[in-house]
Amino acid sequence: MSFINSWVAHDGRLVLMCDKVISTFEAHRQVSGMSESGGVLLGRRRGKHFEVVHATAPMLTDQCSPVSFIRNSAGHQEQAIALWEQSRGEIGYIGEWHTHAEDKPRPSRIDTMQWFELAEREPVHCPKMAVIVGLRQLYVALLRYGEAIEILKAY
Ligand SMILES: [Zn+2]
Repeated sequence: MSFINSWVAHDGRLVLMCDKVISTFEAHRQVSGMSESGGVLLGRRRGKHFEVVHATAPMLTDQCSPVSFIRNSAGHQEQAIALWEQSRGEIGYIGEWHTHAEDKPRPSRIDTMQWFELAEREPVHCPKMAVIVGLRQLYVALLRYGEAIEILKAY
């Protein structure tokens, strides 16, 4: 079963995820015994819409356990810079993803706290995204400075 690749916010903002991104999520689905994994989401902003073109895969320097994932910038940042340069600044940082060993993933208190910090990170006026990869479904959220986390709907 494949994850849904098109999502929409209340304001009509669309989030489209390329096949490669969905494949990365599927390859890291957290089946029993596996640790959480994650990375950064890179893509294009087209007006208010997002096109996610790359999700970095977990690196050996990340700290992960079955119930936590702490991303180290090593590796993820290099890929982000490489894509930024190759695309002449068109493809940039959009947000973060990580896995949960749940069919329908729900954010933990720590996730929510980290997402509020992410929304406050520069540039603050730029909305960011967070994805939790569950066993059967994705949880896709839009993070905006000073606003509640918005859960996107399948489009
Ligand atoms: Zn989490």
